[in-house]
Order: sequence, then structure tokens, then C-alpha cells
Amino acid sequence: MKKLMVLALCILLVMSLVPVLAETADGAGGQQNGGKIIVLATGGTIAGVGEAGKTAGYIPGALTADELLFAVPQLAEVAPIEAIQICNVNSDDITDEIWLTLANKINELAADPDVKGFVITHGTDTMEETAYFLNLTVKTDKPVVLTGSMRPATSISADGPMNLYEAVCVAASDEAVGKGVLIVFSDRIFAARSVTKTSTYNVMAISAGEMGAIGVVRDNVVFLYESPSKKHTTETEFDIAGLSALPKVSILYFSVGADPELLRFAAERADGLVIAGAGAGEFSKEWVEVINGLSIPVVISSRIDDGVITRDNLLCGNTVAANNLSPQKAAILLQLALTGNVGQEYLERLFLQY
Ligand code: ASP
Repeated sequence: MKKLMVLALCILLVMSLVPVLAETADGAGGQQNGGKIIVLATGGTIAGVGEAGKTAGYIPGALTADELLFAVPQLAEVAPIEAIQICNVNSDDITDEIWLTLANKINELAADPDVKGFVITHGTDTMEETAYFLNLTVKTDKPVVLTGSMRPATSISADGPMNLYEAVCVAASDEAVGKGVLIVFSDRIFAARSVTKTSTYNVMAISAGEMGAIGVVRDNVVFLYESPSKKHTTETEFDIAGLSALPKVSILYFSVGADPELLRFAAERADGLVIAGAGAGEFSKEWVEVINGLSIPVVISSRIDDGVITRDNLLCGNTVAANNLSPQKAAILLQLALTGNVGQEYLERLFLQY
């Protein structure tokens, strides 16, 4: 009997300490000091439905935002949540229009003092692109966090609910304020500029190559270790408020024997090009000849994941180095640059600053 009472007292003591621990660990517990989290749902595998238990052959973007939230009742302990369905698509069907809607919506809602942060549920295929676009266009210090999943909601051990829970904890944390747009995936926190998808199937599909993760989440406790140093969110010069579309930029991938006519074809129907070159942004003499003759802006990136391209690496004088941006992110920066005052010097500055 005595033993039972001691045990009961111990349990009561531990339970009374839990909220204190959650709030004090590195200053970033899940239960935060007020403010709601807006969940903007766009679709993807996290909202995917398929044959019970299976991980492949499902329909992405089948569950609604409310259904995603219903699966994680623990979210109610983190913050009040409001859900908005922006679209419900496979992320390969994300468009410029959806990007503009998302950025404008966040800019509008961020002005509300009751809003603490934002979580965007998104397919993993193009999550990094949406993250970088928002990193350059939302004008708020409030956390904006993207997440998704590799396994559909109907699979065994679906990873969506935990990713959503951790993303909301990060969005509700004071530590994430002013860090730019983030991706939370498989317990890790990544900055929008360096994050990329690195696996077609594995639950650890999101990574950041040699730049690494900038933090981790353990249940509702958030640890952020680094801050992005390139300009983002409130520091950017891009204003998308009045835009209904973005300039068109195409990416051309170089490989042995790649047809240089593709460059001419693409240049005729785009406002700018990005080249995914080999090594430090290189390509054949045939490509050099065609690129030298192009009159639209051409940015040189690499088909290699890690590493930087500098001005000295460039084979053509009329091109701009993408720094260490991937081709898909260089294309977004070029799209935004093309909404403004384009010129070689202006582009060179942007690719150094962003
Ligand atoms: N095809 C899916 C998408 O990007 C993949 C995923 O979400 O993991 O929407």
C-alpha cells in the first residue's frame, strides 16, 4: 500500500513537471505563448490515399486540410490551428499562380497579431521550390514552415502525422522567428535556400547536402542551431503584390551529345534560361557557340548537387553564375529578377545576395 502511494506521488510529480520541461528546453517548447498557426494545405503525398498499407500507387492530394489535422489531435495542445485549403494537387502540378496565391495569402494573414506562424503541407517533389519562392517573396518574420510526407496517409507507418506535428511545433516556436522559410521533415529543420529532395522513396528524403540541417525537433521541443545568412523574407527586394503571372524561365540539362538546337528552341519561348551544366557549369563547344549568340539572360548552374560556380568558371561572357543554387532554385531567382530591372550587373548582384 505504502509503495503504491509513493508511486502515485512520483507520477503526480513527474506529470506536474512535464509542461515546465516542455516550455523551458532551449526556450522552445511546443506549447507557446499564444497566437494561432495557420495550416495552408496544397496536397501531395501527405494528403495521399491508396490501397491500405501500401506505400506506392496512391492518389496524392486526396485528403483535405481538416482531415490532415483530425489525424493529429495532439496539435490542439501546441496552438490553436486554422486550416485553409489552397489547392489539393500532386506537387508536380504546382504553378506560378499557386505560388502567388500562397505568398499573397501569407503576406495578408501575417499582419494579424493573432497569427503566430504558418505551416504549408506540400508534396515533396517540388517542396524545395515553393520554399525558396516564398523565402524570396513573403514579407514577414513569422515562421513559415513547409512539410509533407513520403508515405501516403493510408500506408503502414505513415510519416505525415509526425511531420505535421513537428512542423506546427516549429512554426509555434519563438526560435523560428526571423529564420526565413523552413522545411521540417523527419525530425530535421532545413533552410529554404539549401534544402533539396535527395531520395525517391526513403522517409529521410529531404536534405541539404554540404550545407546541412539548421536544427532538429524532438517531439515538441525545437532546437535551432544556425541562421541563414543570405537575404530572405523581409530583407528581399521582390514585390509580387500586383503580379498575376511570373516570367517564363526554362532549364536545359547538359549531357554528352546534348543537342544544341534545344537551346535555340527554348530561348524562343522563354524570358530566360538556366543551364544545368556538367561539373562547375560546363558544356560542349557546340553549346558555347549557341549560348554566346543568345540575347536573353542565361544563368549557369550545375547538375552536381554540391559546390559553387563562380564568374571565373563561366565559358560564355553573356552568362551569370548561379553561385551554389540548384538549377530549379536559380530558375526561381531569375523569374523574380525578370519582374524587375534586368541587366547583367543586376543579375550578378542578385545571385550573390540571394
Ligand atoms: N508526387 C508527390 C508530390 O510531390 C510526392 C510526395 O509528396 O512525396 O506531390
